[in-house]
Amino acid sequence: MNPLQKREISTLARHIKQAQRIVIFSHVNPDGDSVGSCLGMYLYLQGKGKAAQVIIPNHILDFLKWVPGADRIIIGKENPEEAARLIVEADLIFYLDFNEIDRLEQLAEYPQKNRKAFHVVIDHHPGPKIEADLLFSDITVSSTAEIIFKILQNLDPGKEMDQDIATALFAGIMTDTGCFRYNASNSDTWEAVSELMKSGIDYDDIYSRIYDNYSEHRMRLMGYALDKKMVILPELHTGYIWLTKEELIKYHYVIGDTEGFVNLPLSVRGIRFSALFLEQGKKIKISFRSKGSFAVNKFSSAYFNGGGHLNAAGGECYENMKDTLLRFEKLARDFSDEI
Ligand code: 5GP
Ligand code: MN
Repeated sequence: MNPLQKREISTLARHIKQAQRIVIFSHVNPDGDSVGSCLGMYLYLQGKGKAAQVIIPNHILDFLKWVPGADRIIIGKENPEEAARLIVEADLIFYLDFNEIDRLEQLAEYPQKNRKAFHVVIDHHPGPKIEADLLFSDITVSSTAEIIFKILQNLDPGKEMDQDIATALFAGIMTDTGCFRYNASNSDTWEAVSELMKSGIDYDDIYSRIYDNYSEHRMRLMGYALDKKMVILPELHTGYIWLTKEELIKYHYVIGDTEGFVNLPLSVRGIRFSALFLEQGKKIKISFRSKGSFAVNKFSSAYFNGGGHLNAAGGECYENMKDTLLRFEKLARDFSDEI
């Protein structure tokens, strides 16, 4: 931690000490990093004897329900009144792994009504826009869970980390790096992992709970997507997969089933830019990934109303699938020098 962050750490320590009621927010549709970060922080605060509560706006995916503490999360959609009460009564509020208040969806209005609370944002997405009293933001770090690991280390220097906290944070780092395949080329990440391992976490068990936990339908959908719906454009170093509403229904799609599909074309030799198009009602939801310097967050914000990281972004389009794909292919041709 640099000296500035040391000052921020002592500010955070002071506010944690004073706090009576703490809320920890994940973003809507939380991924492993968001859930792992929230639960790591939650378990740490619990260990300090603090009344803390993790709140997720909509729901938690099955493959994350085993993370220690997940059974105590409040889901905003299921318990709207309790969630609202906890938020307006909180004196310390954490926003973990997101940069825009809209990602709290229907809950976004409540923290804005509670300006007496101390608001802390911890994130690794570019351009944090949440009004914060304290901000830990670093886009070069693999995951929010890794930032939280560093913060906890600095809050309690030299103290061995509790195994459940380490498990939650490890799950966050593991999922945001696609099991250490991307955003994991900084030695700090491996040092963090090494420290987490020392707390006695069960790597094989965590791996299995995350990556050997798919439904049969999801595996068959992936097979179909690869065989029939992946388009490879070698001359553009680009590949994409597209799935219609009917196809998703046929394979009994549930949220989370297409997680990771966007990366599949990148495993084809020479492919450096990939996309996944999913038909959702009137909207096409798009994910983008790249290898190297092609900035998919800029590409997505310029042409598909989205954003994200340099190599991982998302966006949307309100044209039909055929027109969306034509537009995408034309843009890939326009940018072929950069891809
Ligand atoms: P994914 O493709 O996994 O849904 O998202 C990849 C990254 O892009 C995530 O970091 C996410 O925050 C960001 N992202 C996904 N969809 C959108 C979007 O519609 N708008 C913005 N601004 N970011 C998005
Ligand atoms: Mn993340």
